[in-house]
Amino acid sequence: MNLRLLDTKEQAYEILNYVLDQNVNLIDTARAYNGTNGSGETVESEALVGEVIRRRQDLQEPIVIITKGRGYTVEALDEELAISRSKLGIEGKGDLHIGQNRVKLVYFYHGLNDERWESITTSGALERMQAVKQEGLINYIGFSSHYGNAKEIKEAVDTGIFDVVELPYNIFNRALGEDGEIDLLRYCYERGVGIINMKAFGGNGMVPIFDSLQSYVDIDHAKMLNFCLSNPYITTVDAGARFVEEFAVDLDVAAGPRLGGPELAQLRSEADEIAGDLKHVCRECLHCLEEFECPEGLNFPRILALYSRYRIGERLDKDTSELHEAYKQLELNAEACIECGQCVPWCEYQLDIPKMLKAAHEVLSS
Ligand code: SF4
Ligand code: SF4
Repeated sequence: MNLRLLDTKEQAYEILNYVLDQNVNLIDTARAYNGTNGSGETVESEALVGEVIRRRQDLQEPIVIITKGRGYTVEALDEELAISRSKLGIEGKGDLHIGQNRVKLVYFYHGLNDERWESITTSGALERMQAVKQEGLINYIGFSSHYGNAKEIKEAVDTGIFDVVELPYNIFNRALGEDGEIDLLRYCYERGVGIINMKAFGGNGMVPIFDSLQSYVDIDHAKMLNFCLSNPYITTVDAGARFVEEFAVDLDVAAGPRLGGPELAQLRSEADEIAGDLKHVCRECLHCLEEFECPEGLNFPRILALYSRYRIGERLDKDTSELHEAYKQLELNAEACIECGQCVPWCEYQLDIPKMLKAAHEVLSS
């Protein structure tokens, strides 16, 4: 996960050491997972992952590290990969290691979309990725992508060069799985491409909004995770737990039984009752702020989060006064939005941010 979303570096060390203690052998990070954490400390997720692995003396098998870069051209790929290897502290070719620990490096194009795929395929970056694998600088090639990029995902898989893909899928949004025009999870599986399922909880980790939802549907985090783990085409689920307590719940689910056909069908129909409402909910994932800042200085995800909670609260007939209060405390509220639309392409969930901000102001300022 993006370790800057935690409050302290200590929390990052704690969760990283905890997962290694549990013999988990896959860690997913990215060059872009940088920034300031809740205590104002500068955090580079790759550097923290590398530091924790280097300090361990007890790791029995190679840790598989996924990192992602913006190598959509040859130059960018070379530059980003060199930085990632250096931040992680990876040495060697072919047989890679961090300190005394062996690692396998899976290198991803981060967030494949139409524009990036066009650049990758026309700039020589695709050939360069194969060359760096051949050279042994990385062990496997992959990409991550999001809803709305089914065409590019299929085209990329059809090249036959990818070992693994990371795709969003969860009980509330199965567009890249069984609800899609083609079931891309199955498509990848049948071609021997490993599938890492992200967003099993619909966003980053156990997003607070899903706690509210549980008073409406009987779907908790354990069921959401088991739904994904029970999909036969998914290799593993990257649940994105933030804290040890969350990860312990995930591990219990993973070690338990999978769901059968009738249970899955029941969960699907229950989820579909509210899936429509979730299309317009900010997941508080903060991916939009990784490489973008509103030119008006507006913390728009904060407002969208308040608004999304308000909508769910209203739907559930809950007291929303705290949300109104929190909105009034903001230094800059949604009135500052000039509706330039620059933020929209940065939202992974394709939210109509300016429209939502306007609606947020109407209901929360009163
Ligand atoms: S539409 Fe509003 S929130 Fe988005 S970038 Fe423009 S001013 Fe900022
Ligand atoms: S606006 Fe979109 S990308 Fe940004 S936090 Fe909300 S859901 Fe995530």
